[in-house]
This record gives sequence, C-alpha cells and structure tokens, in this order.
Amino acid sequence: MNIEELTIEKVLDGYRNKKFSITEIIQVYFERIKKYNPQINSFITLCEEEALQEAKRKDELLKNEGVSLPLFGIPMGLKDLFSTKDIKTTASSEVLEDYTPPYDSTVVQRLKDAGAIILGKLNCDAWAHGSSGENSDFGPTKNPWNKEYVPGGSSSGSAASVAASFVLAATGTDTGGSIRLPASFTNTVGLKPTYGRVSRYGVIAMASSLDSIGHFTKTVRDNALILNITAGNDMFDATTSQNPVPNYLENLNKGIKGLKIGIPKEYTTKEKGMELDVLLTFENAIKKLNKLGAEIIEISLPHTEYSIACYYIIQPSEVSSNLARYDGIRFGNDRSYFGDEAKRRIMLGTYTLSAGYYDAYYKKAMQARTLIKQNFDKVFDASNGVDAIIAPVSPTLPWKLGEKVNDPLKMYLSDVFTVTANLAGIPGLSVPAGFAKELPVGIQILGPHFSEELLFRIGFAFEQETEFYKSNPKL
Ligand code: GLN
Repeated sequence: MNIEELTIEKVLDGYRNKKFSITEIIQVYFERIKKYNPQINSFITLCEEEALQEAKRKDELLKNEGVSLPLFGIPMGLKDLFSTKDIKTTASSEVLEDYTPPYDSTVVQRLKDAGAIILGKLNCDAWAHGSSGENSDFGPTKNPWNKEYVPGGSSSGSAASVAASFVLAATGTDTGGSIRLPASFTNTVGLKPTYGRVSRYGVIAMASSLDSIGHFTKTVRDNALILNITAGNDMFDATTSQNPVPNYLENLNKGIKGLKIGIPKEYTTKEKGMELDVLLTFENAIKKLNKLGAEIIEISLPHTEYSIACYYIIQPSEVSSNLARYDGIRFGNDRSYFGDEAKRRIMLGTYTLSAGYYDAYYKKAMQARTLIKQNFDKVFDASNGVDAIIAPVSPTLPWKLGEKVNDPLKMYLSDVFTVTANLAGIPGLSVPAGFAKELPVGIQILGPHFSEELLFRIGFAFEQETEFYKSNPKL
C-alpha cells in the first residue's frame, strides 16, 4: 500500500476486500503525521487515542456488516474553526487557546454519522483572516511541495494535510477564497459550495454573509462524495437552503461536450498583477477543456475591479461584529490577545459601520456587491449565457514564507479572483491545473447558485484528462 496514492474510494474498496483493517489505516496515517507534521505544522491537535478506539469499534462492525456507511473508517482532519465536542477548538487564536466546545458543529456531526474518523484539528490563519496561513498563533503551516513557501490560506492546514497525505479529506471555510486558494497552492481539490448549501452551525464565524463551508480532497470524485454528506438544510442554520440535495456522484462521468464555458476577460489581464506562469497554465487549461468538447467563450464581468475594495469593507464590518463576542471587555479583559490582523479588521470594520461612515462605506460596498452579483446573473442567463466560468484562482504562484506578511495590502490583492464568488454567493471548485517552477497551480470553475453538480462534472473531466492528482510532494 502506497499511502500517497490512496483516495477515499480506494480505502473503502480496501476495507471491502479485507486488504487492510480500519485500525491499520488509522495507524499508518498517524505514523506519517508524527513523522512529517513537525516540518509542515498542519495539525495543531491530534486525537490519536479517540481515533484508534473508534477504529477498533468500527473494525468489529466491519466484520459483521461490511462497509455500511459512505465514509466508513475514512481518516479526516478539521479546520480548527469547526466546533468539536470535547476536543479543543481554537480558531488558531490565543484567545480560544483553552476552549473546548460542548457540542459538534452540524458538519462534524454529519461526517461522523457517515462513518468518518477524525484524526485531529488543523492549523489556519487565526479566525480565518489571511491568504497564507502565516497569521496563525500556532506558527505558520508550510507548503508540502516546498517548505519555504506558503500553502495558501486561510485553510492552510487543511490543504497541506491533504497534499501531504496526512488525511484523505479535510474541512475548510471559504469567506473570500480560503478553500480555493490553498487548494490551488497544494495540488488538491477544494470546493466552496453555494452560500447556504452547507450548514455553518457550530463553525466559528468570520463574516456571516460570506462564509461557506467546504472541503479538500485529492480527487473530484472524493469531493463530490463528501458534499453528498454535508449539504442540505439544517434547522440550526436559518440560512441553509431547502433545495433538495442531488447525488453529486451520479453525473460525474457525463463529459463536457457542448457545454459553454466563459473566460472573464477581467481575470486574465496582466495589470491585475497576474504572473506569466499562472497565465500560461490557465491558457493550457482552456485548451484542454476545448479539446474535451467545451465551447470557450470570452465574457465580461465589468465590476470585478471593485471586488477587493467591496470585500475589504463588508468582510471587516462583519468581522468586527462577530469578534466582539470574544473580546471579554465586559469581564475586565482587553483586546491584547487578538493578533495584529484581527485588530486591523476590528478597527476597519468598526470604522465602516460607525455613524456618519456607514452610508459612505458599508452601504456603498453593499451596492457594489449587488452589481457584482448581477454581473454573474447576466453571464449565467439561462437563455443566452454560459454554463460555467473558468478562471485563475490566484494571480501569483505560492510565495515564500515571510514575503507578504508585513504588507497586508499586497496580501489582500491575492484574493482578487476569489472574493467575487463569495460576494455573489455562487459556488467555485478549485482543481489542480499543473506546475510552474515546481509549485502547484490551480484553476477555479465557477457556476450559478446550486450548480455544484455541474462543477464536479467539469472538474472530473478535466482531472481525468490531466491526471495532476497523481503527483505528490516529496516530504
Ligand atoms: N484571504 C481572505 C481574507 O483574508 C479570505 C479569507 C477566507 O476566505 N477565510 O479575508
């Protein structure tokens, strides 16, 4: 068994055919984590004892009932924003260093009910603020492809853990790109679902009108399998949709012949700080999709230029409101436990929401948000629009640790192609698209609200053609 080649599908097959036991699999993963995590720093809490006990219990079930659940005995990791009963949940911030929730978030509950085994909690930028993973109070996560580089953030530990084969899948959150960007930087598959498709209940909030709950896997198929479990209405989250959840695996194989795929011209201009390597990889991806039978059409999303300004007003406004519950100010504390980035956002958000500035900043940003959403509505118009869009994820390759950490504006600009999907509430799937300078580069597939099934179909066709998922980093 080569652990790097395993996928959820292969492990389930292995259990069915008695190639290995669940305990053996869980042990192998922990051995690997213990050997390499000190270099990568993607796990910040390990649940070895609990996981091995659970594996033992499941091995008994396996003997009697076979593989009875869709994620039976599958090792997973959770971004440390997901509340876990009796397991520390820190948001990678000192403020919550000793916090142990009394309940599981809905997603965690659903994953456990589907048979997943939780190996531990994963590092991220504190409170999910960041694009590199360096804002964590528990030290930065390193990119398994080159440990001098960032793995992307804020779900840095989730992406790095899947890439390093520490787990078969990991949860993440995407408020402005935090699943798609690290997926792109680590050669993994990352889905940001439609806003409201997956419950946010029990996930520490960043910006509540933008937060989407998703996950990382090695393959598109595995990703679809997990969304089957996590998607759907939740009585504890009033923003979850009542829309029925399709079986996301059903149409994966349908191919993409005749689909109309749009390329937004605003996402490919060099003025946006786009690096040539990223552009070339993207152009190759377009050729591949064309070869697979998709019709490629240039489109325009004219309000893209306002997206960063708009996002960096709405998001901090919501952050300042959400983080107020943790400052302990009414109990004699101050805000000194918050890191610089959280403080920066609290100040910005408090300013943009305050009397006299609310209309000038927050309201204006909300109006711009509507225009950005309308841009997408227009290009996805059912009668003469495109079926989906493909775009680069980040304008640059992964950067070196330390390179942008003291320049927040530069860091914010890396979100230029991802925040639009959050502002519009649409889904986006990041899939591996190749390598440049031996670093991974992804592309994102965007679609109308609730088009995850289509995104998986396009991603699957692309993945089967390109097979980048077969490449693994040397640790
Ligand atoms: N990089 C973006 C930010 O720092 C997105 C973060 C996220 O999606 N959680 O706001």
